[in-house]
Amino acid sequence: MATTKKRELDLTAFPSGTVTEYTTLVCLACIFDIFTKQLQMAPRTAFSEVKRHTPTVEELTSRATMRPYFDSDEKNPHCPYCGSAKRWLARFDTYCIEGGKTTDAARRTLIRKLPTAGDQFVVVEKKSDSRAVFFEWLDTLGMNVELQDETWLIETTRRYLERREPKTNWAEMFEGARAVRRSSRLTEGWERDGARLFLAPQLYSEAILIQYLVSRSHAHGGLTLEGRLTLMDLLRRLRYSGYLDRIGITETDPGEVFERVVDHLAATHEWANAGSASSAVKGKGVSTGSGSDRGPVSTGSGSDRVKSSSKSKKKPTKTTSKSGKTSPVQPQPDEIVSEPVKLYYLIDRRDFLDKVKSVYAAYA
Ligand SMILES: [Zn+2]
Repeated sequence: MATTKKRELDLTAFPSGTVTEYTTLVCLACIFDIFTKQLQMAPRTAFSEVKRHTPTVEELTSRATMRPYFDSDEKNPHCPYCGSAKRWLARFDTYCIEGGKTTDAARRTLIRKLPTAGDQFVVVEKKSDSRAVFFEWLDTLGMNVELQDETWLIETTRRYLERREPKTNWAEMFEGARAVRRSSRLTEGWERDGARLFLAPQLYSEAILIQYLVSRSHAHGGLTLEGRLTLMDLLRRLRYSGYLDRIGITETDPGEVFERVVDHLAATHEWANAGSASSAVKGKGVSTGSGSDRGPVSTGSGSDRVKSSSKSKKKPTKTTSKSGKTSPVQPQPDEIVSEPVKLYYLIDRRDFLDKVKSVYAAYA
């Protein structure tokens, strides 16, 4: 008998934040009911159909579930639809792995080691983009931190840094850290001083931004290392810290600035590889694509984005005429475009197959 321990996949080779785990329960009583009553299958046929069944990625990862699927954190869950007890319930574990330079080798190794018999594991590939991936990451982060507890600010900073700089041992860097501060000395990177971790201004600004994005759906304004900030407070800080200049944002309308800042954060898939090359923000005038409205950040204005990308086909003669003072040549208003990202959903069907076998023993 395999213990649950043994069943856990070893994901330690993946940088933090590149694998998202989802667990969904399926009620075998309900599913059998659906197959025999709604689809009018004979029990034996239903059994072999159920055995072959793999839910769709949406069914496995959605936060709103439908019969026969449901989520539960209880130790002894019951089916919310028919009340069936634990032995009727099977679990699907789904691991969504972001494709990319930092994960490709680890993913291939992991998949190569998995048992191949009987479809115990299924891999589904889906195309996505850096923006959707970013919001999903943000959403997951928001669900996994306890906003009541002050340590979430440090925790969020750590998760962000782990994602941005996966090669650093952040567990060690944060060991015993009780505060995160903006460094007035560093221009890049970070340093520990006693119980405090100092971040270069840009990293610090982004950490604040992430905190704002995670918490702002829960409270007026957002909670950050700088206290509770409204959108205006946040933008003021980003401006004074030089962050907006640094990433080339010259707009003044708050909504537009915020949109651009979020675009900037979301447009780069592998932050770690993004610093050097600006390849992530160049490209053709493709719209930033789908999925962008999900997550806690919906700024609700797809039009701004379109505007900002058309702007970068700049017509310098026109812009100078309006603002009486001649503005200096701006530091290349980036055209921000989401990068395509491939997602690999690794679906663990082992528990499901076991339960199907034991529950439907009579039909096997
Ligand atoms: Zn049920």
